Amino acid sequence: MGFFRNLGDIFQILRHVFRQVMSRPFTYFYPFEDREYPERTRGRHIHVREKCTACMQCVRACPNVAISIDKSDKHYEKDAALFFDYTRCIFCGMCTQACRFDALFHTKVVDISEGEREDLLYGPDKIETLDRDPLEWRGRRFR
Ligand code: SF4
Ligand code: SF4
Repeated sequence: MGFFRNLGDIFQILRHVFRQVMSRPFTYFYPFEDREYPERTRGRHIHVREKCTACMQCVRACPNVAISIDKSDKHYEKDAALFFDYTRCIFCGMCTQACRFDALFHTKVVDISEGEREDLLYGPDKIETLDRDPLEWRGRRFR
């Protein structure tokens, strides 16, 4: 009797192990595989320079003083260079809401990591591009 009960337990365990081995893992094989982020994800920003009017509304709206602007750096008639300090940014979205010129967006890119703390200050070279060409990331185009 005991033998059959043990056999039943072993069968249950083997069934459980087999199920686990065959089922898809709950984790993702990051960075080679990534989850689908919601449409309104507030990841790192992208600054569309040609639409910017240097109005500074984004700078004023930031509650954490994470954005600075250089109005002397012009590529177009009215634009300016923006600098984002990602050691300060809390991804609240106030700056993108404040921009009335469609010049500032959040992207779905949330994997911001740098080797050095200073490198988390994103200047025009980083904030105007996604380092990925074309400017399309996870289903959304920015230009
Ligand atoms: S998301 Fe919020 S904290 Fe970050 S730069 Fe914009 S306003 Fe500032
Ligand atoms: S990004 Fe938008 S809110 Fe910020 S300075 Fe440019 S136009 Fe103004």
